[in-house]
Amino acid sequence: MTKVNQNFLKLPGNYLFSEVARRISVYSAAHPEAKIIKLSIGDVTRPLAPAVIEAMHQAVTEMGTFEGFHGYGPEQGYDFLRAAIAQHDYAARGVDMKPEEIFVSDGAKSDCGNIGDIFGTDNVVAVCDPVYPVYVDTNAMAGRAGEYQAELGRWSKLVYMPCVEENGFTPQPPKEKVDIIYLCFPNNPTGAVATKEQLKVWVDYANANGAVILYDSAYEAFITEEDVPHTIYEVEGARTCAIEFRSYSKTAGFTGNRCAYTVVPMELERDGAKLNALWNRRQCTKFNGVPYVVQRGAAAIYTPEGKEQTREAIAYYQNNAKVIRDGLTAAGLTCFGGVNAPYIWLKTPNGMGSWEFFDLLLDQANVATTPGAGFGPSGEGYIRLTAFGDAEATRQAVERIKTSL
Ligand code: PLP
Repeated sequence: MTKVNQNFLKLPGNYLFSEVARRISVYSAAHPEAKIIKLSIGDVTRPLAPAVIEAMHQAVTEMGTFEGFHGYGPEQGYDFLRAAIAQHDYAARGVDMKPEEIFVSDGAKSDCGNIGDIFGTDNVVAVCDPVYPVYVDTNAMAGRAGEYQAELGRWSKLVYMPCVEENGFTPQPPKEKVDIIYLCFPNNPTGAVATKEQLKVWVDYANANGAVILYDSAYEAFITEEDVPHTIYEVEGARTCAIEFRSYSKTAGFTGNRCAYTVVPMELERDGAKLNALWNRRQCTKFNGVPYVVQRGAAAIYTPEGKEQTREAIAYYQNNAKVIRDGLTAAGLTCFGGVNAPYIWLKTPNGMGSWEFFDLLLDQANVATTPGAGFGPSGEGYIRLTAFGDAEATRQAVERIKTSL
């Protein structure tokens, strides 16, 4: 009889987002007049930049001609996009990255999950707590996480690194030896960033212990402060220990377009193998590339007009983040994040639980949020607010929260 992957049966249900949706729908059914504003939304809402649209239109026209038709493209991405990434995202920040070290893909979510294919199942994995759930669940599916301990909300074999107010939501390397380390800055959900000095500690740890850092930089475009590194490769030594994930989803509104990339430096070797070669082998076997039209759209982001237009959309969300952060801080609440990230990590008042505060805001302010506890045990006592909504609705939501408190 066919055996299923037993690890899937250990996964808890997608408790967080389904429970958020359930509570909103129960509340709406009981209060049909309530106009709920969702500060829980994790998706962008601004349309694509005109430069992107134009490039995609042109690419579609090309595809309708014999000369311009593109069938299967290179699994690693077209040269024009890999070269643009190397130039604009790396050389422009003083980092030398070769196009061969850049793998274009259909999403940072897929890459963060798929990267596990190139690592053995007996590696010890460290994750931040709270954390983007994909890192945890994909390791659980691969059998690296052990057993789910429902009463603790954690997996037995994963090493959880608490990201709390005391450490500025940026953890230090753990005491136990770990092999694979997931870091995400700017962070989802806390909105925290890491300085070069903080990342250097991790890079030194990984190089000294033969560990690999999986660095998720999906929110890089939201960095506003000068001294915050935009890529882990700004840190000396990172080329021999880090893989970096980037995405056009939040950078350029590509959540529905699907385009991202992963960087695996040539120098990165473990167990006698080059990880670049392993990832290349993995992608060539299981992935057939991102559509030509989408990659043309992504490349347009690097033109002067494309840069300007995407900067405007980011500025729109950054302003929402400021409205939320400033408004709620003025109302006496404690907010983190929202400066270099589209997420605001709000401490619940009076020691209230995450879900309790979620219910209160839904009921008293008709504002939907995301309870921090859903991102990991250390998220208890916080809620996450996002800046991806409409500016006027965001302003109203903040006013309603202030009034309700
Ligand atoms: N990484 C983080 C930390 C995210 O929050 C998200 C999306 O919410 C992703 C990756 C997914 O990016 P993509 O749309 O490229 O799959």
